[in-house]
Amino acid sequence: MITTEKLYSHYQENPIISTDTRNISTGCIFFALKGDNFNANEFAQQAIEKGASYAIVDEEKFASDQCLLVDDVLSALQDLARYHRQQLNIPVIGLTGSNGKTTSKELVNAVLSEQYKTFATFGNLNNHIGVPLSILSITKDVEIAVIEMGANHQKEIELLCTIAQPTHGIITNVGMAHLDGFGGFEGVKKGKAELYAYLKAHRGYTFINRDNAYLMEMSTKAGLDKLIYYGTENGNTIKGSLKSSDPFIEIDWTNHDVASTVKTNLTGSYNFENILAAICIGDFFDLTPEQINAGLSGYQPKNNRSQLTQTESNSVICDFYNANPSSMSAALNNLSVLTADHKIAILGDMFELGPESAKQHELIVKQASESGIDEIILIGKDFYAYKNEITATFFQTPAEASTYLQEKQIKDSLVLLKGSRGMKLESLLQFL
Ligand code: ATP
Ligand code: MG
Repeated sequence: MITTEKLYSHYQENPIISTDTRNISTGCIFFALKGDNFNANEFAQQAIEKGASYAIVDEEKFASDQCLLVDDVLSALQDLARYHRQQLNIPVIGLTGSNGKTTSKELVNAVLSEQYKTFATFGNLNNHIGVPLSILSITKDVEIAVIEMGANHQKEIELLCTIAQPTHGIITNVGMAHLDGFGGFEGVKKGKAELYAYLKAHRGYTFINRDNAYLMEMSTKAGLDKLIYYGTENGNTIKGSLKSSDPFIEIDWTNHDVASTVKTNLTGSYNFENILAAICIGDFFDLTPEQINAGLSGYQPKNNRSQLTQTESNSVICDFYNANPSSMSAALNNLSVLTADHKIAILGDMFELGPESAKQHELIVKQASESGIDEIILIGKDFYAYKNEITATFFQTPAEASTYLQEKQIKDSLVLLKGSRGMKLESLLQFL
């Protein structure tokens, strides 16, 4: 069995990790992970043939000079990341929450990179595999890292904290997301609070939205003391107010005594708290208001989150990366207050809600029907159950909706397109 120290010496020779044989670069270390439907041990030799210097396997029959045996490949990957993290003497900002993690992570990175050499999680690599891969992508020249940590069940954030070992942390918010795995909203709070518990135990700093009563309650419960507050009230280190959100977010903010205004390229008033979090973190790490504002106003979302796009015929809020009841509700509220002659909400089913699913879909159907939005189009089996309850157009599948949209040729409208990842509503964008 190879030890973590030995593996680390291989990693130092060529610090590129791969977990996918379609993506092997010469000299990399291939980790042969197992999934429900695959066993990458079987591809270890292929990875070597494609140029990997070593493959890490956990079945003896696949072991060889270059295919190094460990007890468990996933644990070996996580241990290697832990070991690497310990060699890095830098601040690591651990970021979790029900909504807005990736957006906040991108914003924090955009701000901090005005002054520091930063690393931030690529895309959404935020789970038990993504976090170790992120940590192992941090090079020696990085001065601050921002690590997104996602979870859909208890103890996951606790595990991710042992890998990322955050010195600073933030929970963006807690909401109705992954209710199934967490066991309801109380379970979400408990699961996310694992970050606070880690920060408390390791004397880390916590950035906290003082307007969020749930987070405040969780922080008190965790006994946090090294707190930096942001919010809308006086007395916070960073105080902000929403100046405009139609269609892009503009914020007035003050740090101590300097007042400032920043215009962003994000739509959706819910982004207010994501932006304020980035301001607070930038200020904490000694960036000037000018640097903070430059980072924020230079950030262009390109990731189908809160992204306002002009097509030939319409303005489309591309928010179809994902959806849950909290973010769906926030997106509907946002669409209702935006200025446009004709507004359409095209919403897809929300997944992973377990026994709460029917109720949560019903609440969104009700909110949509009372929102004043001109046209509502609902897609998916869960929404379809409410077909006879409100005036809206219903489809069981995105394919059916696409036929309809193709014929209808919507024009001159502001359209919100949002649903769970599995609904793949991006397929409809071409018809808008
Ligand atoms: P994931 O769990 O997929 O990693 P995430 O927490 O990283 O999601 P983002 O990808 O940043 O979240 O945003 C996803 C969607 O959530 C956005 O498109 C937007 O609709 C909504 N959203 C973003 N920030 C907030 C917020 N602060 N409050 C409510 N909804 C939000
Ligand atoms: Mg994310």
